[in-house]
Amino acid sequence: MMYPVNVIEFQDMFPTDKACFEYLCLVKWPEGFVCPYCSAHDAWKLQRNILRCKTCMKDVSVTAGTIFQDLRKPLRLMFQAMWYVVCQKQGVSALGLQSILGLGSYETAWSWLHKLRTAMVRPGRDRLSGIVEVDEIWVGGAHKGKRGRGAEGKELVLVAVEKTKEGLGRVRFKQIPDASAKTLESTIDVLVEPGSTIRTDGWRGYAQLGKKGYTHKVLVHPQQEPGEDPTPLVDRIASLLKRWLLGTHQGGQQFSHLHYYLDEFTFRFNRRNSRSRGLLFYRLVQQALEISPAPLSTILAS
Ligand SMILES: [Zn+2]
Repeated sequence: MMYPVNVIEFQDMFPTDKACFEYLCLVKWPEGFVCPYCSAHDAWKLQRNILRCKTCMKDVSVTAGTIFQDLRKPLRLMFQAMWYVVCQKQGVSALGLQSILGLGSYETAWSWLHKLRTAMVRPGRDRLSGIVEVDEIWVGGAHKGKRGRGAEGKELVLVAVEKTKEGLGRVRFKQIPDASAKTLESTIDVLVEPGSTIRTDGWRGYAQLGKKGYTHKVLVHPQQEPGEDPTPLVDRIASLLKRWLLGTHQGGQQFSHLHYYLDEFTFRFNRRNSRSRGLLFYRLVQQALEISPAPLSTILAS
């Protein structure tokens, strides 16, 4: 695993687009080229992003089907965007990215940031396990919404967080249309490994979890105050998330794209103890190579 540990190393490693393309090949094939058609190992380099398998003669592009396809800007600039994104612990706004990279258009900065957020979710990532606290929260808007019912300008989000010895483990978020048992159960199935212990409040939507392959523990707030939330870990995540949304994005996010912001928060939060920004950079490149390209049309349509 090779990655830059500081900005000097970053600049030394990626002085040209050629160096960036070579790095993509290295991350994609750490053990050397493997033909996706015939599994052979020898290839000619046709262009900087295209190799031709010496055995089956098929052309293989390292960027096709990834967020690096059709950038219309130097790949080096995208690498700088990725470095900037991982180095800013609190996250990045499109305006900030536009100004640091000197991008002519805000739209480019915005679409790049969204491409990178897409790459922050690991495809086929693991479900949470062990002891997991689960609750729904409202994001956006000034007032609390009613359970199970939508409210103007608000999005209902299911939060799942692992409880570890140190307190908070990994988190997952999922926007949900309602807090019905059907929605909650199917969402939890996506987020949490069966066999785990799930801790929730007494909402009836969670009542059948014990029959869905989980050990279900109902938490009750110690003071029994009406309206008090008995899920302390989710509370802490919710306040960190809301502060982050306000601080980094001045609350100006379009909540139609909330899931991108949730993905970015998840990526940053779950790697908050990572000592090396370079390792985050490597992970981002690696995950960016695993996912499909995200043209602006699909971002806007989502
Ligand atoms: Zn081949």
